[in-house]
Amino acid sequence: MSTNASAANVAELTPLRELSARIGSDPLLTQASTGNSSIKLEGVLWIKASGSWMADAINEDILIPLDLAEVKERVKQKLDPAERYARASIETAMHAVLPHRVVLHVHCVNTIAWAVRQDAPVQLERQLDGLRWQWISHVPSGLPLAWKIARVLSASADTDVLVLGNHGLVIGGDDCGAVEDLLSQVEQRLALCPRQPDRTDYAALAEIVDGSSWDLPDDDEVHALGTDAISRAVLSGGLLYPCQSIFSNSSTPGLFRSVPCPNPRDPWERQYRTRPFLIIEGCGVIVRRTMTPAQRAMMSGLAQVIQRVSSSALLRYLTEEEVANSFSMIASRYRELANASRYSSAR
Ligand SMILES: [Zn+2]
Repeated sequence: MSTNASAANVAELTPLRELSARIGSDPLLTQASTGNSSIKLEGVLWIKASGSWMADAINEDILIPLDLAEVKERVKQKLDPAERYARASIETAMHAVLPHRVVLHVHCVNTIAWAVRQDAPVQLERQLDGLRWQWISHVPSGLPLAWKIARVLSASADTDVLVLGNHGLVIGGDDCGAVEDLLSQVEQRLALCPRQPDRTDYAALAEIVDGSSWDLPDDDEVHALGTDAISRAVLSGGLLYPCQSIFSNSSTPGLFRSVPCPNPRDPWERQYRTRPFLIIEGCGVIVRRTMTPAQRAMMSGLAQVIQRVSSSALLRYLTEEEVANSFSMIASRYRELANASRYSSAR
């Protein structure tokens, strides 16, 4: 069948574009080009293009049309549709296997703060009681995630909320209104209060970055990664979700371990020359000027997640194998998008 857009089809895309833009502009729901949305219309899967930002959904053509039957056939044959259609979202297979007309996937910080706990399925049972939800323990994005979801749905066909371990949230519904309502219900139930970090030492940070190739982050809340002792302990234990590894371009937690406050007179720039950012114990965070808007947005998301992770919870960090899997499969795509940053000429 043809994937040419009929006028009626295009008109029906408007609510999804509006919903995507609203969600994309809330950094607690999605950061940079993470997250994706889709609608199935007359045999066509309209899905967010890889690397585009949901926040741009009104002003840019972020949705691309794919032949739904063809995508499903590929998934059945264990071929990842994201590899066949160059611009398709990495989660195209997941959107195709979900039966819902409208599907939304977000990296909402409240959900992730629950989804990194070892006891997440038990805790969520309580929080999401009464909703038609399922827990999906961590698997890499793309085909493995789609297959796992298809298996879970074959036993619980009426599911419309999926919590993805060490990853995020998926909501499905008949229309954009239903999906947005359900998202707000889940958000309310999973809402967590961020810890109040100690004060950022702006004077010390300003002295360190003065005359260097480093800068302070635009988002003041990122400093909590360095000023909050619980956050520092959480970060030092490992990587909690794939985007953490992707924006830092690192498959180990080393970059996220705090360092003592450098003396501006020491050759600290040389010492940390390979790092994109420095988490400075008790002071805050500094970032390289070359950090892209996408990396900065994902770092802000990380700070919001970590500030919500309970100090008493046992955490389930990604295993080395999981990090390596996710990293090799999606890092190149995310790097592309990190470079083609939202506010650069490469748009
Ligand atoms: Zn995701």
